[in-house]
Amino acid sequence: MKLCMIGTGYVGLVSGACFSDLGNDVICVDNDSKKIENLKKGIIPIYEPGLDELVKKNYKNNRLNFTTNLNKAVISSDIIFICVGTPTKKNGKAADLSQIFNVVREIRSSISKFKIIITKSTVPIATGDEIEKIISKKISKKMFSIVSNPEFLREGEAIRDFNYPDRIVIGTGDKKSNKILKSLYSPLISKGAKYLNSSRRAAELIKYASNAFLATKITFINELSNLCEKLGVDIEDVSIGMGLDKRIGGRFLRAGPAYGGSCFPKDTKAITNTADKFKINLSIIKSVIKSNKNRSSLLLNRVYNILNGKIKNKKICFLGVTFKANTDDMRDSSCLTMIPSLIKKGALINYYDPTGEKKEFRNKKNVSYSKNITAAVKLSDLIIIHTEWNDFKSINFKRIVKNKKFRIFDMRNIYSSIKMSEQKIKYFAIGR
Ligand code: NAD
Repeated sequence: MKLCMIGTGYVGLVSGACFSDLGNDVICVDNDSKKIENLKKGIIPIYEPGLDELVKKNYKNNRLNFTTNLNKAVISSDIIFICVGTPTKKNGKAADLSQIFNVVREIRSSISKFKIIITKSTVPIATGDEIEKIISKKISKKMFSIVSNPEFLREGEAIRDFNYPDRIVIGTGDKKSNKILKSLYSPLISKGAKYLNSSRRAAELIKYASNAFLATKITFINELSNLCEKLGVDIEDVSIGMGLDKRIGGRFLRAGPAYGGSCFPKDTKAITNTADKFKINLSIIKSVIKSNKNRSSLLLNRVYNILNGKIKNKKICFLGVTFKANTDDMRDSSCLTMIPSLIKKGALINYYDPTGEKKEFRNKKNVSYSKNITAAVKLSDLIIIHTEWNDFKSINFKRIVKNKKFRIFDMRNIYSSIKMSEQKIKYFAIGR
């Protein structure tokens, strides 16, 4: 099939590369000309395991192409996936849909034969209705079908998640579009993915509800870990014990820093905002947002306590600054709250991240980047393990840290408290 992905970011590029790998002709569009130029040269704009090879292979085979020319790409395609960003509005809670509607207005002029137009971006309930209204002002409704096909992939696992999704949700009442999309996804359905055809509004809501639920699981276990610290119970035992119950499941049940990333923070805000408009109080999700906001202050308090309240001129090293491992995505990472707050108190921050230096901290006073783990931790008073990269899982701290009085705050519970105590390392974890 001939597909067009509009927006070549985490979702558009991964889905585009994977669809082309399944034998479709895919053209990825972006209005960032540098990104498109680089992709044509084989330079991948994001860190995502396996993506590099997949993009290069399919670009070489001419099944995957890149352009800035949206109109041309739409004209030559049968199925258009809108994959642009839907961030939170500045100073607000609602999703900013300007990127979506800009694209929709542009697409309009290129519809001369039947097109399926899909929102893969996460959009609030009834956005599909609005898109349909905008396009039908200029184009007959017979010429297009607006479908919601929310994306559930996780950064860091995106290629696996695309190829082996738990479910594919297609929100449309149009039988013809449903048949075409079922056939597009048939290679994944035959590998075991469940296919759900729902109403368009339901599909839009399924995405928000799923993200809000996962954010709730994380926040739930984070709060329980606070209680575990008081009780002398290990939160890891609690997570495993709860997760063994199939009704609960162990995923997203690991205590750690505040959840971040490009989805949970914005999507929890957007769904409560939608509900408020309909005078429905989604009080659980609202408390999740509040609890998650408090999480970074709570962990910062622990940092102060670990350093006996003496932060000024203390050398604090962060291992990993993205919102989670295996991604370079800094959006809403809890480091963006914690590091500035520690600097304000006079700390000297040094960090290492396997995906390299971050523009968010470049030229920031008292923040420096080290090119490897050894250089990063060497002189530290406190080492904070912020993300769970494999690279951080078997470090010989005793050997490489030169400051004999160093402490470790393991925000991901990677290490064993017992082994650390055997080595006489002052080690602090979450919920233990
Ligand atoms: P992103 O910011 O990485 O990518 C969006 C891309 O769209 C950018 O490259 C941008 O330049 C491009 N763009 C914006 N306006 C454009 C226009 N008019 N024409 C062409 N290109 C344009 O965003 P993302 O992380 O891929 O997320 C996209 C959507 O998918 C969001 O709604 C997000 O909530 C949702 N989503 C994201 C993930 C994830 O893990 N990142 C997972 C599931 C769903």
